[in-house]
Amino acid sequence: MGNGNHSAGAGRGADGGQGARRRTVRRRSVLIGAGVAAATGGVLAREQLGRLWYQVPGVSKPRVEGAVDYAKAEWVAASDANWRRADRPDDFTVDRVIIHVVQGSYAVALKVFQDPAHRAATHYVVGKDGRVAQLIRELDVAYQAGNREYNERAVGIEHEGFVDRPQDFTGAMYESSARLTADICLRHGIPVDRTHVIGHVEVPGTDHTDPGPHWDWDRYLRLVRAAKKQLERERKQDERRERA
Ligand SMILES: [Zn+2]
Repeated sequence: MGNGNHSAGAGRGADGGQGARRRTVRRRSVLIGAGVAAATGGVLAREQLGRLWYQVPGVSKPRVEGAVDYAKAEWVAASDANWRRADRPDDFTVDRVIIHVVQGSYAVALKVFQDPAHRAATHYVVGKDGRVAQLIRELDVAYQAGNREYNERAVGIEHEGFVDRPQDFTGAMYESSARLTADICLRHGIPVDRTHVIGHVEVPGTDHTDPGPHWDWDRYLRLVRAAKKQLERERKQDERRERA
């Protein structure tokens, strides 16, 4: 959000189109929630699903009610007036993470994103205590940035608090958000730098100011890089275990 109401330019007009553009297919990035993988028997089933669906151009990937892209997130569905169905990364390359500040509480963010009149929402909300909600699948385009191209290429994260209250940006929130951003960057192959992890304020054409001058970018990127290394280590261990 930023200037009071987030998404004043982000709604209706800015995002009415269909995701028809086809781009490079990266099978590695098939995004199916953790719940689905568990239910269907893990990696092998996920690979088979991915292969099947990639062979049918223009058809959306299968979805499961309540599935999340980030295992630690609770699912709270946003109103479907606040996002557009898409098939990322097949139709749009995902190469940005956009950082927002709610100008309100975690509860307020969830409430307005469930309100069809709001006409905007982000994929994730992170609380001061570190909890994470996912409201929109990463497959889909969230009306978050007030810029159609950036909506189509980005995953958005809201943070509980106010831009002019640095005490709102707690250690728990920074660390939790950094783990989330690291997970997103790893899955989509997004570099962890200030070109690809940006504030809403940096989106071309926006009049929003979030996350504001008190958001500590150096600290945040340091945490994201550390979290990404940790995830890469865990992934390698998993691969080793699977081979054994
Ligand atoms: Zn914002």
